[in-house]
Amino acid sequence: MAKLIYSFGFGRAEGGAKDVEVLGGKGAHLAEMAGLGLPVPPGLTVTADACSHYYANERRLDEELKKQIISGIALIEGETGRRFGASEKPLLLSVRSGARVSMPGMMDTVLNLGLNDETVEALAEDSKDARFAWDSYRRFIQMYGDVVMGLDHEAFEEILEDEKARRGYELDTEMAAEDWQEVVEAYKHLLDEELGAAFPQDPHAQLWGAVGAVFSSWMNARAITYRQLHNIPEHWGTAVNIQAMVFGNLGNSSATGVAFTRNPSTGEAALYGEFLVNAQGEDVVAGIRTPQSITEQARIDSGADRPSMEKLMPDVFAELRAICARLESHYRDMQDIEFTVERGRLWMLQTRAAKRSTRAAMKVAVDMVEEGLIKHEEAVSRIDPSSLDQLLHPTIDPRVNRQVIGHGLPASPGAATGAIVFTAEEAVAAAEEGRKVILLRVETSPEDIHGMHAAEAILTTRGGMTSHAAVVARGMGIPCVVGAGTMRIDIRNEQLIGTGATLKKGDVITIDGSSGQVLKGVVPMVQPELSGDFARIMKWADEMRRMTVRTNADTPADARAARAFGAEGIGLCRTEHMFFEGERIHVMREMILAESEEGRRRCLDKLLPMQRDDFAGLFCVMHGLPVTIRLLDPPLHEFLPKTDGEIAEVASAMGMEEKAMRERLDALHEFNPMLGHRGCRLAISYPEIAEMQARAIFEAAVEAARETGAPVVPEIMVPLVGLRSELDYIKARIDAVAEAVMQEASMAIDYLIGTMIELPRAALRAHVIAEAAQFFSFGTNDLTQTTFGISRDDASAFLPTYQRKGIIEHDPFISLDFDGVGELIRIAAERGRRTRNDMKLGICGEHGGDPASIHFCEEIGLDYVSCSPFRVPIARLAAAQAAIVMRAN
Ligand code: PEP
Ligand code: MG
Repeated sequence: MAKLIYSFGFGRAEGGAKDVEVLGGKGAHLAEMAGLGLPVPPGLTVTADACSHYYANERRLDEELKKQIISGIALIEGETGRRFGASEKPLLLSVRSGARVSMPGMMDTVLNLGLNDETVEALAEDSKDARFAWDSYRRFIQMYGDVVMGLDHEAFEEILEDEKARRGYELDTEMAAEDWQEVVEAYKHLLDEELGAAFPQDPHAQLWGAVGAVFSSWMNARAITYRQLHNIPEHWGTAVNIQAMVFGNLGNSSATGVAFTRNPSTGEAALYGEFLVNAQGEDVVAGIRTPQSITEQARIDSGADRPSMEKLMPDVFAELRAICARLESHYRDMQDIEFTVERGRLWMLQTRAAKRSTRAAMKVAVDMVEEGLIKHEEAVSRIDPSSLDQLLHPTIDPRVNRQVIGHGLPASPGAATGAIVFTAEEAVAAAEEGRKVILLRVETSPEDIHGMHAAEAILTTRGGMTSHAAVVARGMGIPCVVGAGTMRIDIRNEQLIGTGATLKKGDVITIDGSSGQVLKGVVPMVQPELSGDFARIMKWADEMRRMTVRTNADTPADARAARAFGAEGIGLCRTEHMFFEGERIHVMREMILAESEEGRRRCLDKLLPMQRDDFAGLFCVMHGLPVTIRLLDPPLHEFLPKTDGEIAEVASAMGMEEKAMRERLDALHEFNPMLGHRGCRLAISYPEIAEMQARAIFEAAVEAARETGAPVVPEIMVPLVGLRSELDYIKARIDAVAEAVMQEASMAIDYLIGTMIELPRAALRAHVIAEAAQFFSFGTNDLTQTTFGISRDDASAFLPTYQRKGIIEHDPFISLDFDGVGELIRIAAERGRRTRNDMKLGICGEHGGDPASIHFCEEIGLDYVSCSPFRVPIARLAAAQAAIVMRAN
């Protein structure tokens, strides 16, 4: 019989941290903590496999699973001395989801399960608190009614508000046991009326309903969106954790809270967390009440006046601190925990590796190396390369005067400016139009996830550092300020009321996620300084990496920025970008439209000195590092006038009839320019263009070598080659120009001529092309386009649908298609090296900055990756991690 449940209790557990795939994150770590002897309420985890069975079985729980769950509950009963459904000392259960990776708030939970008209009396008796018992029962009906029976929780909220209003109460805490009892009746009545279904009194029926609902929540719309955003496969499914309830709402010696073993925003090695006295677990995460800090130091730092847990419950706090220290050294990583205190007794409800800002991740990794907890390699492996983006975010210029209109908690670092919007839908619509917005909410919920993703930053007026907004924004790496209680959002009038300013929808604010400040208008920013922990991690990474990291840069400014980020050369200079600027476009147009070679050469003579300056500039900045320059690539008509006005202007400048001009333009028109007269085909039709570019490159190399004293070895790259004969033809011209320039300058120049591999034919015939090419650079943008036969300019019209329908997992233009495009790269690399074993191999398509693609490049032994300047640090780190993995295998 398949094992469908894993049980855990006092000092015992069937599973552990290693079983994340089977038990989900929550279940595996509950088991681990139980096994360590930590105070975990006894329970059981239903495996994620059972979730797959549930779906295969038309969303029904099979009898075998029920049998195993009941036997697991018997163990809980044994350890707690309570019985499920009993009218004395009843056992109440929590039923929670728990996928392999955390999906905060995306799936459903049911608490207080097992309560009914009979057991509520027993709970009142047992707890000596009738008010608590009836409040728990109404919470349970509300949660169950919403999650399992499908009646929106707002309907329950309305009843509750009416009941309070009828009694003249403002707060839930004013409700007495009898009041709750009436609410319970009203809720049951509501379910009858609205659904024609009675609230189930049988605890087992409740349990099967709840387990099924948690499984079903794996396929709710928010969970699906979250999985798409985070590339989480659907087939994983969720586990379900069924545990004995413990109560944080049993009066003032009870509490519930969350803690990080270090500060998740800064990484500072000090316990950090929040708690609520007399509250149930979900209240902290939901951010409904603003929580108190657990440590006295954090309370002092934040200027809060309500006492810390350290002051209020010193003994429990000391125990919590000791457990946190134990968990950190056990897991050798920073933890994020949930706990409940029931009448002075501490219970651990969750531990997991804490989500943290990138800055915190860097500091924690460096500190843990110094504390001897982890080695350099592990420190480097722990940083998510894509998250470095966050560090590269601008921050507010410290020299400017800030017009602060509000402040809250600094939940996710970096600063951002944008127009304010009040709904997730508006944020999405604005992003689609390319407008930058800041999403304002009283508090966010999982329904807002798409808007949060579209916004530059998030601001909430409620909630703490562990509220939904804070956790999600940190994960996404976007700036976020939460709990800005000094500000008020007036949803009805779409206004944000701050100190000394009332702003309307569309007004611009800046938020500083590092200080928690909200500022009016646009504020000058500064680029981050890449020193300290970042520099140390990157230094370690550089020592571990095998591949070099180059950049795609066309201007000295880009090249300089890339060098500051650690680029070790230029892997792709797209020369066409140099022809669009200022006056050049006119000369370029004239050249293309010229009817004869002579006319073209006249224009090329004008372009030559400009190109030479461009290349000399690049060579000087790169100071002897390798620079790959690609000959002109795009279809010529890209440079041509398009609007009537432009056409008239160019015709008159060239002294051509407008009609003749239009005829020439028609002649140059192509039906499918991406597969048309571009790449090396241009150089074959008009070799004088390639000759001019080659001359500019060689003359610039001479000039830069003389100026910097560092010899330049230009690498000239021919695009879109499919035939060796194409390369031979162009190479002969380049060699001739090189010879001429060397004679003229009386100086020897070393240079390489290579090609891009962008066509399947080139990949397959790599062994032949390698006879002429000294290096290959994989142009994976075109290679993906030509392998799939999907136009890179039109793919966005249908690839998202492909992803949504599960036809493809990733967009192959972002992350390399290993199976198809990757196979061609593998073949080309292997065949190319067969002909020329010292052949230099690199990649310069967008994939050169994508961590997963970089792993592939390491695997097949490329020499370098090349990416845009801002992605250079990401590529350095990803290349190091790939090398670590390869060494370990
Ligand atoms: C490529 O095709 O991958 C490439 C780098 O060239 P471009 O994007 O300029 O076509
Ligand atoms: Mg290309």
